[in-house]
Amino acid sequence: MSVDSRRIGRVSKLEDRVHIPVSAERAWQDQANCLGVDPDLFFPERGASTREAKEVCRGCVVKNDCLEYALENGEKFGIWGGLSERERRRLRRQRAQSNRNIATA
Ligand code: SF4
Repeated sequence: MSVDSRRIGRVSKLEDRVHIPVSAERAWQDQANCLGVDPDLFFPERGASTREAKEVCRGCVVKNDCLEYALENGEKFGIWGGLSERERRRLRRQRAQSNRNIATA
């Protein structure tokens, strides 16, 4: 995937999730702290700092909704719910392990 196509995907995804709520289930987006913030901040280039984006997310009242949305939809890029893609992968693994432990208990 080229950098340009990734950028186009990233920006349209962010606009989709934050700026254009399509159902009551996604009305939480209207309360997002990142409304009006430069979308590129949430999709830093590989190796770039995520600190500023996470700072915006820190005080966001819909952080959990955002994170669960990203996990449910397998969002692979960007900061969602204050977590990077690597942090979301780790959380997904932890939840899967926890579910396996419950199933075998
Ligand atoms: S948690 Fe962050 S990315 Fe998600 S809606 Fe809030 S400010 Fe935006």
